[in-house]
Amino acid sequence: MIMVKRMSDAVLDPASLRKAEDFRWAGVDSRRYKEENAAPFKAVSRQVLFSDPRLAGELRYFEVEPDGYSTLERHEHMHAVMILRGEGQVLVGTIVHAVKPHDLITIPPWTWHQFRPAPGEKLGFLCLVNADRDRPQLPTLEELSALRADLEVAHFLDGVNKDESAGRR
Ligand code: MN
Repeated sequence: MIMVKRMSDAVLDPASLRKAEDFRWAGVDSRRYKEENAAPFKAVSRQVLFSDPRLAGELRYFEVEPDGYSTLERHEHMHAVMILRGEGQVLVGTIVHAVKPHDLITIPPWTWHQFRPAPGEKLGFLCLVNADRDRPQLPTLEELSALRADLEVAHFLDGVNKDESAGRR
């Protein structure tokens, strides 16, 4: 049987409204992005904004510090991402995209992806996923060298800014 909440209950439920302040949400823990040593990443925090058994999805907010990066990974589940803070680059498959606030990024199934802030910027983004999802895969050495065959992708993976690398040529 589905319990239907009266409007007054919703208003009284402190979890119904979480006020935002400088990219932190009231009552939401800022956690480590992943377990230490679970996968390569650097300087990323995670806030789970919505996770409820009555929803089939979860909405998370990730923030990458200026010299950080998310894990280079792929998986069957999709990501729907909106940039909220800062500028940076996103690798989707073999394409490096420049991104800025309010840009939307779709990560299709089984597509390599990684997020990196621009120099001196924090890159913060919302990420919508299925609540029930498969675990990410990391690239093998062969898959990594195949990705690196593209010079732009190699520069991205080395954390070399696009403008810097353009100036160096
Ligand atoms: Mn992912």
